[in-house]
Amino acid sequence: MTYVAPYSEIAESLHQFTSERTDRCKPFSVGTTVQGREILGLRAGTPGKPKLFCVAGQHPHEHAGMWGVLGIADFVSSLLPEAAALRDQLDVFVVPTVNPDGNVLGRNAFNAEGFDMYQAFGDNPDADLPEAHESRLLWEWVETEKPALWMNFHCYTGWRLNSEYPYDGWYEVEDRTLFSDPAQRQLYAALCDTMRLETDGPSTHERASIHQPNTLCYQFAKRFDLPHAFYEINNGTAGKHLGAQRAIHVLKRVTNTLLHYVQYDE
Ligand SMILES: [Zn+2]
Repeated sequence: MTYVAPYSEIAESLHQFTSERTDRCKPFSVGTTVQGREILGLRAGTPGKPKLFCVAGQHPHEHAGMWGVLGIADFVSSLLPEAAALRDQLDVFVVPTVNPDGNVLGRNAFNAEGFDMYQAFGDNPDADLPEAHESRLLWEWVETEKPALWMNFHCYTGWRLNSEYPYDGWYEVEDRTLFSDPAQRQLYAALCDTMRLETDGPSTHERASIHQPNTLCYQFAKRFDLPHAFYEINNGTAGKHLGAQRAIHVLKRVTNTLLHYVQYDE
């Protein structure tokens, strides 16, 4: 079963949060898609604190990932004590649908130009910029804002070698020397420990799946020393509520690790 997450509903929920919780969050935008749709986000936290960038929807039919990140937007702008503590310590930017055109057009894995935003560099991992217009907007955002970490949620449907119904999965880069700064390398190793020991990512397989060199995860690591947490929710067992619960759990564990190492550095 698929619990569809339409762009219109995601946008409406984001608008509701940012208009009703003005003391805790505000809207922001990564830019405009090929077809003129706004790539909407919610910002919550303290300017000047380490930035966390949290996205879903590179593959626009992966609905549980988008519901998950909408849940994160709800959580980080909520009245929960843990959310208030996170807002004091981080500046969080949440974008549940980075590929609105693909979502509205009903694309499987592509944007309006026919590019895959996950395999963002296509056949040329060494290109200056990723292929899709919306991937380039993400690239520019990261280059300008220099987040401390980005979280990327996907999901899958059915059964795969690396992910077995009804469970979740996770991905890593294999080569940790992609991170040139030893402190970033250690942070990434700690984040991989977090995903392995504290989330349900390994529920499908003993080892993480591997990001190839043509992905944003890989190139952000290599070129910007930017670590990621990449989690794949099972679309068949996680609708709006369970997708959100799983994503919020991953967020809590990953930010716990991030804050330890960020504070450790200071
Ligand atoms: Zn995907």
